[in-house]
Amino acid sequence: MTRLVLTGVNLLDGTNAAVGDRTMVLEGERILAVGAERPEPREGDVVVDLAGRTVMPGMFTCHFHSTYHELGSKPNTPYGNEYPPSYQALIAARNLRTALELGYTGVVGAGGSNDVEGGVKRAIEDGLIPGPRFWASSRELSTTGHSNDGVPWHWGMGASGAVRLCDGAESFRLGVREEIKRGADVIKLFVTGGHGTTAPKDRIEMSRAELAAAIEAAHQRGVLIRAHLVNKPAIMMALELGIDIVDHCDEMDDEVIAALVETGAFVVPSLHFPKHFLGFMGSGLGFAADAIKADLNHMYAMIPKAQAAGVRFVLGDDYGAIGFPHGMYGAELRLYTEHAGVTALDVLRWATRNGAELARRGDDLGRIEPGRLADLLILDGDPTIDIGVLADRPPAAVLKGGEVVAGALPG
Ligand SMILES: [Zn+2]
Repeated sequence: MTRLVLTGVNLLDGTNAAVGDRTMVLEGERILAVGAERPEPREGDVVVDLAGRTVMPGMFTCHFHSTYHELGSKPNTPYGNEYPPSYQALIAARNLRTALELGYTGVVGAGGSNDVEGGVKRAIEDGLIPGPRFWASSRELSTTGHSNDGVPWHWGMGASGAVRLCDGAESFRLGVREEIKRGADVIKLFVTGGHGTTAPKDRIEMSRAELAAAIEAAHQRGVLIRAHLVNKPAIMMALELGIDIVDHCDEMDDEVIAALVETGAFVVPSLHFPKHFLGFMGSGLGFAADAIKADLNHMYAMIPKAQAAGVRFVLGDDYGAIGFPHGMYGAELRLYTEHAGVTALDVLRWATRNGAELARRGDDLGRIEPGRLADLLILDGDPTIDIGVLADRPPAAVLKGGEVVAGALPG
């Protein structure tokens, strides 16, 4: 088998600080060797001198709505039914390809419309379309009358599209099982209002029995389960019941941090959307702007504490919402390093090691070590020195399973 030998590598392995002048050998879809030594040359080796360019693991984005496009811009359309399902599949294919080209070789869904994500994932795996490794999401499971259950105009129509309504523990159990049957790798629940929804953030929209049944049903089938969780009582309840991923986590405090560390649950702070929304809407938000600012400042203060305590953060946000298009992913890296006091090295660990662990692939993705899959980025600079190398432009090359899927190898 032809080997690809990369020399002159500035190595960011997903855990440690950068180290220069390494050599990497890739064979097939995996990393064969990495270190200071050059391997004995073998006939047929393809040798590429990276001349000090950085190689790092492919990134994960772990809160992704592949089917969303200008969501919320058509107020008289039921949530997640703005376009027919076939059209949504094309939107999803485009968004996933964009993520791959920008260096996200792993994407974890956080709510998709009309069973589209399971089918699109299969099309990627079958080689029909290019795309990242994809963990398909269910529709959002939530209760009747919750904030995404139709605007008043739709008073007589249950939510559909991006939402599956469930009421009562057995209804949630059935909902989880059916979504898994339809291709979901991760179940999304809406437990509270707040963080971009019209319901107040202190509202809890699922009962304890409903939440427990949903989590149990997902775990019985070996599927991840995540929830939109903003207020502290709901976060604590979900952690106690075994939720895998806390989306938003706005009311994080010392007690929440302790529970997150104890349970090992992952947190997607997803602060890019509220920050962008604030800039986008400006003074049009009135008093709401102060509340969003206060929530952001609270999280900017809590994240370094949580990081130091060992909470596992990951990247991801509500791209596809109104005024917040897919493709703006890089600015997240800037946000956490420039506003939330996270070092560039730590935010890269969120993007690589933590993302792979969230997807339960920490054993073969997210880090650079012999034997692991060669999902790699080649960058024209070191993002731990200048995050803009990764935040402001696409990688020079993106490799998925040892194959160049975007950009090109130098020379
Ligand atoms: Zn979301």
